[in-house]
Amino acid sequence: MTKVLINEKLVDEQDANVPYNDRGYVFGDGIYEYIRVYNNNVFTAREHFERLLRSAKEIGLELKYNVDELTELIQELLSTNSIVNGGVYIQVTRGAAPRDHAFPTPSVEANIMAFTKSYDRPYKLLEEGINAITTEDIRWLRCDIKSLNLLGNVLAKEYATKYNAQEAIQHRGDIVTEGSSSNVYAIKDGEIYTHPVNNYILNGITRMVIKSVAEDKGIPFNEEVFTLDFLKGADEIIVSSTSIEVMPVVKLDGENVGDGKVGSITKSLQEGFNRYIDTHS
Ligand SMILES: *Cc1c(COP(=O)(O)O)cnc(C)c1O
Repeated sequence: MTKVLINEKLVDEQDANVPYNDRGYVFGDGIYEYIRVYNNNVFTAREHFERLLRSAKEIGLELKYNVDELTELIQELLSTNSIVNGGVYIQVTRGAAPRDHAFPTPSVEANIMAFTKSYDRPYKLLEEGINAITTEDIRWLRCDIKSLNLLGNVLAKEYATKYNAQEAIQHRGDIVTEGSSSNVYAIKDGEIYTHPVNNYILNGITRMVIKSVAEDKGIPFNEEVFTLDFLKGADEIIVSSTSIEVMPVVKLDGENVGDGKVGSITKSLQEGFNRYIDTHS
């Protein structure tokens, strides 16, 4: 029987319920993480848990666990569910309380929930690439927080799905920010360009790995804003996240990216990413 973690208890999936007035449910008042498991190893676990704690701090949510305690809780869930290759979703909400926008006083205990999923790496898509579509970024101005409020992201992804694309690349006016659930890179003349880390994007852990791989390989990694026109003229485009890794975009708004094939810099980053997985798990 698959278990779900609810506040330190591993409960059967069908019994895993949360209170109707949980603030995550009522206000989207909470944060989350999604972590990959490769060969029984929780990939970049520390970086993800540190980001979870940062998100908590940024929304004034008191979490009683540190990185080691979170690691232990999640490890137990993964072992119980025998996850060899897959992922784990973790969310923390400000807890259950009568509905009132302001934080509950006195404060209530945060609710933590985690569930697992077993699946293989997206080998076929990594080799062939995906289609992406561009759309205005209508999200709030604290995209650096991995918040449960994902309506802007949900609408962007649904728009992509409707037009047979696998990801929506968002832009604020002329400036490309990030995907609905991924970071975005334009590659031009052998150099990588990606939005700098600030409140307009989520600082991806995969992005950090790609940066380190690029630096190892001597590929310039420019953390600079770039325009939609620049993206449309790119030789190669990549989107990245924990679940899609280093994913090539071969069509943008129905037009070929470069020659419409997965490019050489992308392949080189994918190779470096694979090596990073092998040496860090
Ligand atoms: C989670 C997320 C990413 C990717 O972050 P990873 O740590 O690489 O998984 C990028 N953008 C948004 C909006 C996200 O929610």
